[in-house]
Amino acid sequence: MQDARVSRIESDLREFVRTAYPGMVVRAEFWARDPSRIALFFIDERFRGLYRRQRYHHLMHLIPKDYYDRNLADSLWFELTPDEDPEDLDDNPDEELVESITLDVMAVLQAACFFEVLDELFLGARDGDGPVSCSGDFRHAKCILRRCGIDEWDWSEVFHVLMGRGAFCDCEILLNTAPESKFRARHWKGAAQESEC
Ligand SMILES: [Zn+2]
Repeated sequence: MQDARVSRIESDLREFVRTAYPGMVVRAEFWARDPSRIALFFIDERFRGLYRRQRYHHLMHLIPKDYYDRNLADSLWFELTPDEDPEDLDDNPDEELVESITLDVMAVLQAACFFEVLDELFLGARDGDGPVSCSGDFRHAKCILRRCGIDEWDWSEVFHVLMGRGAFCDCEILLNTAPESKFRARHWKGAAQESEC
């Protein structure tokens, strides 16, 4: 059952996500387990392969903060692919755990030349294929982890460490977490030139 407020939220959210996710199904309803709260369902094929925290981050970017604060602060979010149920969603790993492993994970990545290889891919300095572009996911980072022999069981923790440092896609790994990055330097040089009066 929907009341006017819930229908309004549903249509507002559809409007917010429409440009970035034209095919997304958005549903708002009173949560069955606690009808005092609103449950929001965002369903899109493009969430496939993304961690829950990444999906949430991409959506949050599209919703104005004041709208979120006024209408959604107490809502529950379920970001799903078309064939997932809310029960299928993994819980985010414990923040304290992520914090406690961060330095070690960064050291492992550095020792494996993970950041250097990603940097070279984005600069087009590898394989002669020209620079890669970011698809809003971790596809290039995952290929490098595989090549470095980092066990797939550990990937979730690796990426939660990187997300904890503000990286929610391949390019943000370089922009926000890499100790050194020529791609980042070039990005900021370009931004500085554009902003010159
Ligand atoms: Zn990116």
